[in-house]
Amino acid sequence: MKANHFKALVRANISGLNPYRSARDEFRGDARFYLDANESPFPSAYRRYPDAQQERLRSAVSRLKKVTPDEVLLTNGSDEGIDLIIRAFCEPKVSSVIIPQPTYGMYATFAAINDVKVLPVPLTKAFDLDMAAIRKRCSKQTRIVFLCSPNNPTGNLLTKASVRTLLELFKGLVVIDEAYNEFSDSISWAGQIRKYPNLIVLHTFSKAWGLAGLRVGVCLAHPQIIRVLNLIKAPYNVSSASEKALLHTLANKSGRITRQVATVVKEREKMKKALANLPIVREVFPSAANFLLVRVRNAKIVYKALLNRGIVVRQRSDALRCENCLRLTIGTPAQNRKLLAILKSL
Ligand SMILES: *Cc1c(COP(=O)(O)O)cnc(C)c1O
Repeated sequence: MKANHFKALVRANISGLNPYRSARDEFRGDARFYLDANESPFPSAYRRYPDAQQERLRSAVSRLKKVTPDEVLLTNGSDEGIDLIIRAFCEPKVSSVIIPQPTYGMYATFAAINDVKVLPVPLTKAFDLDMAAIRKRCSKQTRIVFLCSPNNPTGNLLTKASVRTLLELFKGLVVIDEAYNEFSDSISWAGQIRKYPNLIVLHTFSKAWGLAGLRVGVCLAHPQIIRVLNLIKAPYNVSSASEKALLHTLANKSGRITRQVATVVKEREKMKKALANLPIVREVFPSAANFLLVRVRNAKIVYKALLNRGIVVRQRSDALRCENCLRLTIGTPAQNRKLLAILKSL
Protein backbone atom coordinates (compact mmCIF):
# COMPACT_ATOMS: atom_id res chain seq x y z
CA MET A 1 0.00 0.00 0.00
CA LYS A 2 1.42 3.40 -1.01
CA ALA A 3 1.99 5.98 1.72
CA ASN A 4 -0.62 8.44 0.43
CA HIS A 5 -3.20 5.70 -0.01
CA PHE A 6 -2.61 4.67 3.61
CA LYS A 7 -2.95 8.29 4.74
CA ALA A 8 -6.36 8.46 3.11
CA LEU A 9 -7.51 5.48 5.19
CA VAL A 10 -6.77 7.20 8.50
CA ARG A 11 -9.69 9.13 9.95
CA ALA A 12 -9.11 12.80 9.12
CA ASN A 13 -9.04 14.24 12.66
CA ILE A 14 -6.65 11.52 13.80
CA SER A 15 -4.03 12.12 11.09
CA GLY A 16 -3.34 15.52 12.58
CA LEU A 17 -3.56 14.51 16.22
CA ASN A 18 -0.98 15.53 18.81
CA PRO A 19 -0.59 12.49 21.08
CA TYR A 20 -0.74 12.93 24.84
CA ARG A 21 2.78 12.72 26.17
CA SER A 22 3.31 11.54 29.69
CA ALA A 23 6.15 12.82 31.84
CA ARG A 24 7.98 9.50 31.36
CA ASP A 25 7.78 9.82 27.59
CA GLU A 26 9.98 12.88 27.85
CA PHE A 27 12.54 11.53 30.28
CA ARG A 28 14.47 8.29 29.82
CA GLY A 29 16.99 6.82 32.22
CA ASP A 30 17.27 6.67 36.02
CA ALA A 31 16.51 9.61 38.27
CA ARG A 32 17.27 10.02 41.99
CA PHE A 33 13.59 10.39 42.58
CA TYR A 34 10.51 11.06 40.52
CA LEU A 35 8.41 14.12 41.31
CA ASP A 36 6.91 14.45 37.84
CA ALA A 37 3.71 12.40 37.78
CA ASN A 38 1.98 13.20 41.09
CA GLU A 39 2.39 9.61 42.24
CA SER A 40 2.48 8.74 45.93
CA PRO A 41 5.98 9.02 47.44
CA PHE A 42 5.27 6.19 49.92
CA PRO A 43 6.31 2.59 49.22
CA SER A 44 3.64 0.45 47.55
CA ALA A 45 4.00 -2.21 44.85
CA TYR A 46 1.97 -0.34 42.27
CA ARG A 47 2.51 3.32 43.05
CA ARG A 48 4.21 4.01 39.69
CA TYR A 49 2.38 4.46 36.42
CA PRO A 50 3.13 1.68 33.94
CA ASP A 51 5.36 2.24 30.92
CA ALA A 52 3.11 3.95 28.34
CA GLN A 53 5.33 2.62 25.53
CA GLN A 54 5.20 -0.94 26.96
CA GLU A 55 8.83 -1.53 25.94
CA ARG A 56 9.59 -4.65 27.98
CA LEU A 57 6.31 -6.34 27.28
CA ARG A 58 6.30 -5.42 23.58
CA SER A 59 9.77 -6.83 23.20
CA ALA A 60 8.81 -10.12 24.92
CA VAL A 61 5.60 -10.42 22.88
CA SER A 62 7.39 -9.58 19.61
CA ARG A 63 9.78 -12.49 20.25
CA LEU A 64 6.85 -14.83 20.92
CA LYS A 65 5.05 -13.71 17.75
CA LYS A 66 8.23 -13.57 15.62
CA VAL A 67 7.75 -9.97 14.54
CA THR A 68 9.59 -6.75 15.42
CA PRO A 69 8.54 -4.57 18.41
CA ASP A 70 7.32 -1.77 16.11
CA GLU A 71 4.82 -4.25 14.62
CA VAL A 72 3.20 -4.83 18.04
CA LEU A 73 0.58 -2.90 20.00
CA LEU A 74 -0.63 -4.23 23.35
CA THR A 75 -4.20 -3.52 24.34
CA ASN A 76 -6.61 -4.00 27.23
CA GLY A 77 -7.82 -7.30 25.75
CA SER A 78 -8.21 -7.65 21.99
CA ASP A 79 -11.63 -6.06 22.39
CA GLU A 80 -9.81 -2.74 22.92
CA GLY A 81 -7.88 -3.44 19.71
CA ILE A 82 -11.14 -3.81 17.76
CA ASP A 83 -12.38 -0.48 19.12
CA LEU A 84 -9.07 1.32 18.41
CA ILE A 85 -9.00 0.06 14.81
CA ILE A 86 -12.54 1.30 14.13
CA ARG A 87 -11.87 4.63 15.83
CA ALA A 88 -8.62 5.19 13.92
CA PHE A 89 -9.78 4.22 10.44
CA CYS A 90 -13.54 4.90 10.26
CA GLU A 91 -15.29 8.23 9.91
CA PRO A 92 -18.49 8.16 12.04
CA LYS A 93 -21.70 8.32 9.94
CA VAL A 94 -19.64 8.00 6.73
CA SER A 95 -17.53 4.83 6.74
CA SER A 96 -18.74 1.24 6.70
CA VAL A 97 -17.23 -2.10 7.74
CA ILE A 98 -17.94 -5.56 6.36
CA ILE A 99 -18.65 -8.27 8.90
CA PRO A 100 -19.20 -11.84 7.62
CA GLN A 101 -21.94 -13.66 9.56
CA PRO A 102 -22.11 -15.49 11.87
CA THR A 103 -19.12 -14.27 13.86
CA TYR A 104 -17.92 -12.68 17.09
CA GLY A 105 -20.33 -9.96 18.17
CA MET A 106 -17.86 -7.28 19.28
CA TYR A 107 -16.99 -6.06 15.75
CA ALA A 108 -20.60 -4.97 15.17
CA THR A 109 -20.93 -3.66 18.74
CA PHE A 110 -17.89 -1.39 18.46
CA ALA A 111 -18.93 -0.28 14.97
CA ALA A 112 -22.34 0.71 16.36
CA ILE A 113 -20.77 2.54 19.34
CA ASN A 114 -18.61 4.49 16.90
CA ASP A 115 -21.58 5.24 14.62
CA VAL A 116 -20.03 3.27 11.77
CA LYS A 117 -22.26 1.36 9.38
CA VAL A 118 -22.13 -2.44 9.52
CA LEU A 119 -22.51 -4.35 6.25
CA PRO A 120 -23.28 -7.95 7.25
CA VAL A 121 -22.38 -10.56 4.62
CA PRO A 122 -23.37 -14.21 5.13
CA LEU A 123 -20.59 -16.79 5.15
CA THR A 124 -21.10 -19.73 2.81
CA LYS A 125 -22.82 -22.93 3.94
CA ALA A 126 -19.42 -24.27 4.98
CA PHE A 127 -18.88 -21.00 6.92
CA ASP A 128 -16.19 -19.77 4.51
CA LEU A 129 -15.87 -16.34 2.87
CA ASP A 130 -18.31 -15.59 0.07
CA MET A 131 -16.05 -13.42 -2.07
CA ALA A 132 -18.72 -12.48 -4.61
CA ALA A 133 -21.08 -11.32 -1.85
CA ILE A 134 -18.32 -9.33 -0.14
CA ARG A 135 -17.38 -7.63 -3.40
CA LYS A 136 -21.01 -6.70 -3.97
CA ARG A 137 -21.37 -5.11 -0.54
CA CYS A 138 -18.11 -3.07 -0.70
CA SER A 139 -18.35 0.61 -1.50
CA LYS A 140 -15.83 3.45 -1.60
CA GLN A 141 -16.69 4.10 2.06
CA THR A 142 -15.86 0.57 3.21
CA ARG A 143 -12.75 0.86 5.35
CA ILE A 144 -12.43 -2.51 7.10
CA VAL A 145 -13.34 -6.18 6.61
CA PHE A 146 -13.38 -8.11 9.90
CA LEU A 147 -12.42 -11.77 9.62
CA CYS A 148 -12.25 -14.27 12.44
CA SER A 149 -10.22 -17.44 11.89
CA PRO A 150 -10.78 -19.89 13.54
CA ASN A 151 -14.21 -18.31 13.54
CA ASN A 152 -16.28 -17.82 16.67
CA PRO A 153 -18.89 -19.42 17.04
CA THR A 154 -18.47 -21.84 14.13
CA GLY A 155 -14.93 -23.03 14.95
CA ASN A 156 -13.63 -23.39 11.38
CA LEU A 157 -10.63 -21.75 9.75
CA LEU A 158 -11.29 -19.53 6.75
CA THR A 159 -9.60 -20.96 3.67
CA LYS A 160 -6.22 -19.39 2.93
CA ALA A 161 -6.97 -18.74 -0.72
CA SER A 162 -10.09 -16.66 -0.01
CA VAL A 163 -8.31 -14.60 2.66
CA ARG A 164 -5.39 -14.01 0.30
CA THR A 165 -7.70 -12.86 -2.49
CA LEU A 166 -9.33 -10.39 -0.11
CA LEU A 167 -5.95 -9.07 1.07
CA GLU A 168 -4.91 -8.52 -2.51
CA LEU A 169 -8.11 -6.99 -3.89
CA PHE A 170 -9.60 -5.00 -1.02
CA LYS A 171 -8.45 -1.38 -0.85
CA GLY A 172 -9.10 -0.97 2.87
CA LEU A 173 -7.87 -2.85 5.94
CA VAL A 174 -8.37 -6.55 6.57
CA VAL A 175 -8.50 -7.51 10.25
CA ILE A 176 -7.96 -11.19 11.02
CA ASP A 177 -8.91 -12.06 14.58
CA GLU A 178 -6.93 -15.17 15.55
CA ALA A 179 -8.06 -15.43 19.18
CA TYR A 180 -8.08 -19.24 18.80
CA ASN A 181 -5.03 -19.70 16.58
CA GLU A 182 -3.08 -21.70 19.18
CA PHE A 183 -5.68 -24.50 18.99
CA SER A 184 -5.41 -24.83 15.19
CA ASP A 185 -2.64 -26.40 13.17
CA SER A 186 -2.66 -23.47 10.78
CA ILE A 187 0.21 -21.00 10.84
CA SER A 188 -0.71 -17.49 11.88
CA TRP A 189 -1.36 -14.71 9.39
CA ALA A 190 1.01 -12.66 11.56
CA GLY A 191 3.83 -13.93 9.35
CA GLN A 192 2.26 -11.99 6.44
CA ILE A 193 2.07 -8.48 7.91
CA ARG A 194 5.18 -7.37 6.03
CA LYS A 195 3.80 -8.65 2.75
CA TYR A 196 0.35 -7.09 3.27
CA PRO A 197 0.52 -3.57 4.73
CA ASN A 198 -3.31 -3.54 4.93
CA LEU A 199 -3.41 -6.56 7.27
CA ILE A 200 -3.99 -6.37 11.03
CA VAL A 201 -3.81 -9.61 13.03
CA LEU A 202 -5.39 -9.79 16.49
CA HIS A 203 -4.15 -12.21 19.13
CA THR A 204 -5.08 -12.52 22.79
CA PHE A 205 -3.77 -13.96 26.03
CA SER A 206 -7.36 -14.67 27.12
CA LYS A 207 -7.87 -18.14 25.62
CA ALA A 208 -4.95 -20.58 25.17
CA TRP A 209 -2.78 -18.66 27.65
CA GLY A 210 -5.49 -18.80 30.32
CA LEU A 211 -5.15 -15.11 31.26
CA ALA A 212 -8.57 -13.65 30.41
CA GLY A 213 -8.61 -11.78 33.72
CA LEU A 214 -5.40 -9.90 32.94
CA ARG A 215 -6.95 -8.26 29.86
CA VAL A 216 -4.06 -8.29 27.40
CA GLY A 217 -4.60 -8.41 23.65
CA VAL A 218 -2.14 -7.97 20.80
CA CYS A 219 -2.42 -6.09 17.49
CA LEU A 220 0.16 -7.17 14.92
CA ALA A 221 0.53 -5.03 11.80
CA HIS A 222 2.80 -2.91 9.63
CA PRO A 223 4.54 -0.19 11.73
CA GLN A 224 2.57 2.59 9.98
CA ILE A 225 -0.67 1.04 11.28
CA ILE A 226 0.75 0.45 14.77
CA ARG A 227 1.89 4.10 14.90
CA VAL A 228 -1.65 5.35 14.27
CA LEU A 229 -3.21 3.01 16.85
CA ASN A 230 -0.54 4.00 19.36
CA LEU A 231 -1.50 7.62 18.82
CA ILE A 232 -5.05 7.10 20.08
CA LYS A 233 -4.71 4.43 22.76
CA ALA A 234 -5.00 5.55 26.38
CA PRO A 235 -1.38 5.92 27.59
CA TYR A 236 -1.66 3.38 30.42
CA ASN A 237 -4.00 0.84 28.82
CA VAL A 238 -2.08 -2.19 30.16
CA SER A 239 -1.65 -2.13 33.94
CA SER A 240 1.61 -2.84 35.79
CA ALA A 241 -0.02 -5.85 37.43
CA SER A 242 -0.90 -7.30 34.02
CA GLU A 243 2.55 -6.51 32.66
CA LYS A 244 4.24 -8.24 35.57
CA ALA A 245 2.02 -11.33 35.46
CA LEU A 246 2.30 -11.68 31.70
CA LEU A 247 6.11 -11.32 31.69
CA HIS A 248 6.25 -14.02 34.34
CA THR A 249 3.99 -16.35 32.34
CA LEU A 250 5.95 -15.79 29.12
CA ALA A 251 9.26 -16.52 30.85
CA ASN A 252 8.20 -19.51 32.95
CA LYS A 253 4.96 -21.09 31.81
CA SER A 254 5.05 -21.44 28.05
CA GLY A 255 5.85 -25.18 28.24
CA ARG A 256 2.84 -25.76 30.43
CA ILE A 257 0.61 -23.74 28.10
CA THR A 258 1.75 -25.81 25.11
CA ARG A 259 0.82 -29.02 26.97
CA GLN A 260 -2.56 -27.62 28.00
CA VAL A 261 -3.34 -26.64 24.42
CA ALA A 262 -2.43 -30.18 23.27
CA THR A 263 -4.81 -31.61 25.89
CA VAL A 264 -7.64 -29.35 24.74
CA VAL A 265 -7.09 -30.31 21.10
CA LYS A 266 -7.09 -34.02 21.95
CA GLU A 267 -10.24 -33.61 24.04
CA ARG A 268 -11.90 -31.61 21.26
CA GLU A 269 -11.41 -34.46 18.79
CA LYS A 270 -12.65 -37.02 21.33
CA MET A 271 -15.71 -34.92 22.15
CA LYS A 272 -16.43 -34.35 18.47
CA LYS A 273 -16.67 -38.09 17.86
CA ALA A 274 -18.60 -38.83 21.05
CA LEU A 275 -21.11 -36.02 20.51
CA ALA A 276 -21.76 -37.07 16.92
CA ASN A 277 -22.94 -40.47 18.24
CA LEU A 278 -25.57 -39.03 20.59
CA PRO A 279 -29.22 -39.34 19.50
CA ILE A 280 -30.02 -35.70 20.39
CA VAL A 281 -27.15 -34.38 18.23
CA ARG A 282 -27.84 -33.48 14.60
CA GLU A 283 -24.45 -32.12 13.59
CA VAL A 284 -21.04 -31.35 15.07
CA PHE A 285 -19.19 -28.72 13.05
CA PRO A 286 -15.46 -29.08 12.38
CA SER A 287 -13.45 -26.99 14.84
CA ALA A 288 -9.90 -25.64 14.99
CA ALA A 289 -10.62 -23.84 18.27
CA ASN A 290 -11.23 -24.74 21.94
CA PHE A 291 -14.97 -25.17 21.47
CA LEU A 292 -17.43 -27.10 19.33
CA LEU A 293 -20.53 -25.79 17.63
CA VAL A 294 -23.15 -28.50 17.94
CA ARG A 295 -26.60 -28.63 16.37
CA VAL A 296 -29.11 -30.49 18.51
CA ARG A 297 -32.79 -31.31 18.01
CA ASN A 298 -33.93 -28.58 20.40
CA ALA A 299 -31.28 -26.22 21.71
CA LYS A 300 -33.54 -24.49 24.24
CA ILE A 301 -34.42 -27.75 25.96
CA VAL A 302 -30.82 -28.98 26.05
CA TYR A 303 -29.59 -25.62 27.29
CA LYS A 304 -32.09 -25.62 30.15
CA ALA A 305 -31.43 -29.25 31.04
CA LEU A 306 -27.70 -28.51 31.33
CA LEU A 307 -28.38 -25.39 33.40
CA ASN A 308 -30.47 -27.47 35.79
CA ARG A 309 -27.40 -29.62 36.39
CA GLY A 310 -25.19 -26.60 36.91
CA ILE A 311 -23.51 -26.52 33.50
CA VAL A 312 -23.54 -23.31 31.47
CA VAL A 313 -22.98 -23.48 27.72
CA ARG A 314 -23.53 -20.84 25.05
CA GLN A 315 -26.80 -20.69 23.14
CA ARG A 316 -26.06 -19.57 19.57
CA SER A 317 -29.43 -20.42 17.99
CA ASP A 318 -30.06 -16.78 17.11
CA ALA A 319 -26.93 -16.48 14.92
CA LEU A 320 -27.25 -16.81 11.16
CA ARG A 321 -27.31 -20.47 10.00
CA CYS A 322 -26.93 -21.60 13.65
CA GLU A 323 -30.51 -22.69 14.36
CA ASN A 324 -30.59 -25.03 17.36
CA CYS A 325 -26.86 -24.68 17.90
CA LEU A 326 -24.99 -24.65 21.17
CA ARG A 327 -21.36 -23.67 21.54
CA LEU A 328 -19.58 -25.97 23.97
CA THR A 329 -16.21 -24.91 25.35
CA ILE A 330 -13.81 -27.83 25.77
CA GLY A 331 -13.24 -28.38 29.50
CA THR A 332 -10.92 -30.64 31.46
CA PRO A 333 -11.18 -34.36 30.62
CA ALA A 334 -13.30 -34.88 33.76
CA GLN A 335 -15.65 -32.02 32.88
CA ASN A 336 -16.05 -33.29 29.34
CA ARG A 337 -16.91 -36.79 30.59
CA LYS A 338 -19.60 -35.36 32.88
CA LEU A 339 -21.05 -33.21 30.11
CA LEU A 340 -21.21 -36.23 27.81
CA ALA A 341 -22.87 -38.38 30.45
CA ILE A 342 -25.58 -35.76 31.00
CA LEU A 343 -26.16 -35.27 27.29
CA LYS A 344 -26.41 -39.04 26.87
CA SER A 345 -29.12 -39.22 29.53
CA LEU A 346 -31.35 -36.59 27.87
C1 LIG B 1 -12.58 -14.42 23.16
C2 LIG B 1 -12.38 -13.66 21.92
C3 LIG B 1 -11.56 -12.54 21.89
C4 LIG B 1 -10.80 -12.16 23.11
O1 LIG B 1 -11.07 -10.93 23.58
P1 LIG B 1 -10.19 -10.35 24.77
O2 LIG B 1 -10.73 -8.95 24.83
O3 LIG B 1 -8.76 -10.39 24.34
O4 LIG B 1 -10.44 -11.15 25.99
C5 LIG B 1 -11.36 -11.88 20.70
N1 LIG B 1 -11.93 -12.33 19.57
C6 LIG B 1 -12.70 -13.42 19.55
C7 LIG B 1 -13.25 -13.91 18.28
C8 LIG B 1 -12.95 -14.11 20.73
O5 LIG B 1 -13.75 -15.19 20.70
